[in-house]
Amino acid sequence: MLVGEPPPTQADLRFRIFGIPVRVHPFFWLVALLLGMGGSETRPVDALVWVAAVFFSILIHEMGHALAARAHGWYPSITLYGLGGLATYAPTHESLRSRLLISLAGPGAGFLLATAIVAGVRLSGHPIGLVGRSTPLDFDAIGAPALMRQSLVLVDLYFAPLAMGQLDPLIADLLYVNLLWGVVNLFPIYPLDGGQIARELLVAANPHEGIRRSLWLSVGCAAGLAGIALSQNSVFSMLMFGYLAYVSYRTLQAYSGWGRSDRW
Ligand SMILES: [Zn+2]
Repeated sequence: MLVGEPPPTQADLRFRIFGIPVRVHPFFWLVALLLGMGGSETRPVDALVWVAAVFFSILIHEMGHALAARAHGWYPSITLYGLGGLATYAPTHESLRSRLLISLAGPGAGFLLATAIVAGVRLSGHPIGLVGRSTPLDFDAIGAPALMRQSLVLVDLYFAPLAMGQLDPLIADLLYVNLLWGVVNLFPIYPLDGGQIARELLVAANPHEGIRRSLWLSVGCAAGLAGIALSQNSVFSMLMFGYLAYVSYRTLQAYSGWGRSDRW
């Protein structure tokens, strides 16, 4: 995931947003669909809503990076493929502050979107909030006859349904992807945004050992999360973090005067 850019295909979708070129690789749709096929009860329409939510959320994340890069005078482009996206730009000058801001802008854009959705639901007079994973919902206390409940791994999110077609599952999926993808991306693991941020800070603190330390941090953090996922029987998360730990470890072994990468 997120490593390198695939060659162009005939099924690529290409368009521009705010002048920024966007390319969607066909595997993006496939991986998004497979991720949404968790339960056998998933109806086709739910799968489509899920794919739309993943597409929009990852696009917003990459737009955050791309707009921040452009604000710093660079010319970004966006590619969505596999399990995520990539905002690429050609840096014309170096500044720790601007690189940190560009890395933070991706998760930041997702958190802003989630905040806007929560505010929109609340402003429309529908209760929305967080509750413990196994805590039963008190309909009377919340003041709603029915509630949507969406797991966010450590807590559950609930909101009173707006009862407008597919809008309720779309809201649940958008909040799920934006909040989770934003938090996961902030872990100090390569090639996630948090991995880039940790590398920038560790290199600034110690130019000689910074990259090596950031790789060790990445290996340890990814291996630890893979272990936690294993203990929770979460096969997908275990495979993802296990793979990232392996890639970081291989990079650490191959590391010798490795230059700075400008993609994430
Ligand atoms: Zn990102």
